[in-house]
Amino acid sequence: VTLLEASPQPFSSSSKGFDGIIDLDHGDPTMYERYWLQMGDKTTVVINGWQFISYFSDVRKVCWFLEPEFANAIIRLHKLVGNAITEERYIVVGTGSTQLFQALLYAVSPPNSSKPISVVSAAPFYSSYPLITDFLESGLHKWAGDAYTFSKDEPYIELVTSPNNPDGFPRQAVVNRSQGILIHDFAYYWPQYIPISSPADHDIMLFTVSKSTGHAGTRIGWALVKDREIAKKMTEFIMLSTIGVSKDSQIRAAKILQVVSDSHQYKSNFKEGQAFFEHSYNNMARRWKQLRDAVNMSKLFSLPDFPSSSCTFSGRTFGSLPAFAWLKCEGEIDDCESFLRGHKILTRGGKHFGSSGKYVRISMLPRDETFDQFTERLSSIKSS
Ligand code: PMP
Repeated sequence: VTLLEASPQPFSSSSKGFDGIIDLDHGDPTMYERYWLQMGDKTTVVINGWQFISYFSDVRKVCWFLEPEFANAIIRLHKLVGNAITEERYIVVGTGSTQLFQALLYAVSPPNSSKPISVVSAAPFYSSYPLITDFLESGLHKWAGDAYTFSKDEPYIELVTSPNNPDGFPRQAVVNRSQGILIHDFAYYWPQYIPISSPADHDIMLFTVSKSTGHAGTRIGWALVKDREIAKKMTEFIMLSTIGVSKDSQIRAAKILQVVSDSHQYKSNFKEGQAFFEHSYNNMARRWKQLRDAVNMSKLFSLPDFPSSSCTFSGRTFGSLPAFAWLKCEGEIDDCESFLRGHKILTRGGKHFGSSGKYVRISMLPRDETFDQFTERLSSIKSS
């Protein structure tokens, strides 16, 4: 499982890197530390020893371990940003959207089928999907690869990641047959990464604090689910795997989401330029410009181009600023990952995403020092 986002590498603990190594393999969102440091005590949460002792949060709800304060913060933020419809949906909380993805596979796979249901996603796809789908060899579901080449006339689960990890493009389902169950992974459907076009309105939608606010270590995600039976089965999965989800983490996540909303709705309580999505959009825009300048200097690489469109949240017109750069080695270089490793830049090669080795995925969310070192080094790589 060395390809999961968080699997530790010997070099990854220090932001400066070890021996000049720059590690941009994982999507660790430490870029956001600086913003939250500036927020100071605004997000401090105090939990006394007598609080949150019970397993239960609200036993009248399908997801009985969901903290009401966290549920309210989710609904408020989606209404503010306009990126998802929350009405007539069940909210299921998970230990990261990773647990919710597993809960969903369990919840939507046919229970009494003679063979596992196929799980597909259009290449290039998030490299953890095949690993998570198959690691228990459950017999319920099986990874079946690239959705573009899936031609079996039988039920399937299609994972739609929009905007996509690794390449940043908006996505829609591609298989387009009636027996499909769609899971929409909206980890990156936030206005620092892509213009919000309309509130997403699908049956099963996944979100996470990891990539929206940067709090990957809090391990909190949420699913918006239309169907009560699916929400119940997801809850059953989480009950059997972890008997619920840390309340301490939910309370912390609630506070963070509240401050994100406050930073836009009560601007006078915040300094100029400190509205969360303004600040993070500006960071991403600056980083993408810096990366594109470095790529132009080097002439050995290319990046995808994103058309501009208007964002209903900010009113701004811009082209996507993805959390990952899907970099292509031009010319003779067939193994871009090894080539960059030779320059002490660690990335994840295209093959892990069901694509070509000419591509690598590079995290755009490290700390400033690491990102600056990276673009400086990239711009100096010339063909020999
Ligand atoms: N889905 C996608 C597309 C991701 O990129 C990630 C994180 N890299 C996840 C899900 C998992 O996020 P979490 O930290 O919430 O488990």
